[in-house]
Amino acid sequence: MIDKHKFYTSSRWRRKREAVLRRDNYVCKECARYGKTVPADTVHHCYPLMDYPELKLKSWNLISLCNACHNKAHMRGGNPVHPVDGLTDVGERIKDRKKIQYENWLNSNKDNKNNNKK
Ligand SMILES: [Zn+2]
Ligand SMILES: [Zn+2]
Repeated sequence: MIDKHKFYTSSRWRRKREAVLRRDNYVCKECARYGKTVPADTVHHCYPLMDYPELKLKSWNLISLCNACHNKAHMRGGNPVHPVDGLTDVGERIKDRKKIQYENWLNSNKDNKNNNKK
């Protein structure tokens, strides 16, 4: 199981987080869908960190969000399985939008594994 505190304080994460914010022009991508320009304060894992630790530093899995949208994407304390990380319907929708990237990643992973066997 991933040590969240250790991960979120690591320099690798901090650098990645900064790069994602820069890529997204420091605005919330969820608010942008509704034509609003709101400064982003958070970089969110579309495929959650606890369930997909191997995607923790994948740029395609990361999205800049404002605090309000980030809170809307997560169940805070309401989910007995993932008390902090559980996704709400909003979170699931954000995740669904990355499905193609996820499938591409799965496929390229499969290829790598096959190549290693040869
Ligand atoms: Zn927002
Ligand atoms: Zn999040």
